[in-house]
Amino acid sequence: NHKPRIVVLGSGYAGILTVARLQKLLRQDEADIILVNKHDYHYLTTWLHEVAAGTCDESRITIPVRSVIDTERVQFIKDTVMEVQKEEQRVLLCHGEALTYDYLVVALGYEPATFGIPGILEHSLTIRSMNSAREIRSKIESRFADFAARKNNHEKLTFIVGGAGFTGIEFIAELAERVPALCDEYRIDRKQVQLINVEGAPGILANFDCSLAEYAQKSLESLGVSFRLSTRIKAVDPEGVTLLSQEGEERIAPATVIWTGGIQGNTVVCDRVFEASHGRIPAEADLRIKDYDNVFVIGDCSSFIDKRTGRPYPPTAQIAIMQSQTCANNIAALVRGGPTLETFEPFMKGSVATLGKEDAVGVVFGMKVKGKLALLMKKLIDLRYLYMLGGAKLLLSRLRLSDSVEP
Ligand code: FAD
Ligand code: NAD
Repeated sequence: NHKPRIVVLGSGYAGILTVARLQKLLRQDEADIILVNKHDYHYLTTWLHEVAAGTCDESRITIPVRSVIDTERVQFIKDTVMEVQKEEQRVLLCHGEALTYDYLVVALGYEPATFGIPGILEHSLTIRSMNSAREIRSKIESRFADFAARKNNHEKLTFIVGGAGFTGIEFIAELAERVPALCDEYRIDRKQVQLINVEGAPGILANFDCSLAEYAQKSLESLGVSFRLSTRIKAVDPEGVTLLSQEGEERIAPATVIWTGGIQGNTVVCDRVFEASHGRIPAEADLRIKDYDNVFVIGDCSSFIDKRTGRPYPPTAQIAIMQSQTCANNIAALVRGGPTLETFEPFMKGSVATLGKEDAVGVVFGMKVKGKLALLMKKLIDLRYLYMLGGAKLLLSRLRLSDSVEP
């Protein structure tokens, strides 16, 4: 009697919640569950910009994987997925043996999209993992240190954030809030530090209506951020960046470039193994991949069409969390030989963009929110997630940590 093996790749929002639900739904004798992730911690991707800017200690957003899974029920493998061999139904890992599966969940998250812009990957920084966030934090600090060391300085210390989507805006806001402390620490005049956001579109935060986007822009301008709208990053080199607008090309150097111009699904699987559309693998209504009845794709690797607009939902934690529940329910149904699978029907609650620690803006249940109310909404979203992942125990331990840890 073959016991089916379920392999879940990735312990981000999508993967870890799928496992958390599967371990509740299926008995020990019904299936083996294996979770693979390159690190032995789960991190809250939605806070990475704060670690990158140095306004949040990483301990606040990392959770040991083994503390939230039932290790009697689930085998956790800390390893990097190198390849999925879909016809052989196996996964090749960097260090371990090939892992065969009966059911596979692909939840390997995102990587930066470069759109072929020369030098982006080589010379800019990107917020794509905890390690990359740490790297950005330390690069920012070393730029301040180097600048301070070059006395009689007439230059500017310039940071350019490419892209004014949610990530670019949330990151530059955190950085703007940290700059005064960095200037004090390194004895640099605040006027010598430039924070520039470059956005190809005529306005920031394209998902929001004009009134919210303008509110966000004013809030950031008051923190010392300047905007270059209708301007694209054309190339990045070791010294700086070339911009392109209607007025022509402009070079800014020296400058440190943080690229937040868009994302695509993890290329370990997207296109390399399963055909992708605009960088993400289309998920069917039940979250399986077309022609692969035992393979599910969820989170940022997946693309799920919103029937109302005919376009894919944006890749968000909100979607990843909801997908994990449908995915786990459907795998449990397949293991038990159930005839029908659930259809994924997301219920979108809205979105909030933080503008540093004192301000935020968003739309929640169709209602526009700004300032303290928006911040409160964001906090509630985070608390709900922690509760979903680890119940009251995790929630309380994190609340205690947030009281005690200051970056
Ligand atoms: P991830 O959370 O990225 O997890 C992927 C996992 O796979 C990681 O643990 C990674 O280590 C692992 N992995 C990757 N490659 C390999 C490999 N080869 N082998 C093994 N393991 C691997 N969305 C919202 O809804 N609300 C927000 O407020 C919000 N804020 C955001 C802020 C920032 C700064 C960013 C970058 C994104 C934000 N998002 C937000 C989007 C949200 O974070 C993503 O949509 C969400 O993380 C997707 O979850 P996921 O599980 O697909 O991927
Ligand atoms: P995005 O695709 O949403 O935004 C990228 C921005 O970069 C766009 O405004 C685009 O016009 C701009 N851009 C692209 N190429 C450019 C160029 N060459 N020069 C200048 N600008 C350029 O990407 P993101 O902000 O990383 O967000 C990714 C996903 O994560 C989205 O689905 C987003 O909703 C989600 N997210 C959500 C939150 C939140 O809810 N608070 C926070 C962060 C990310």
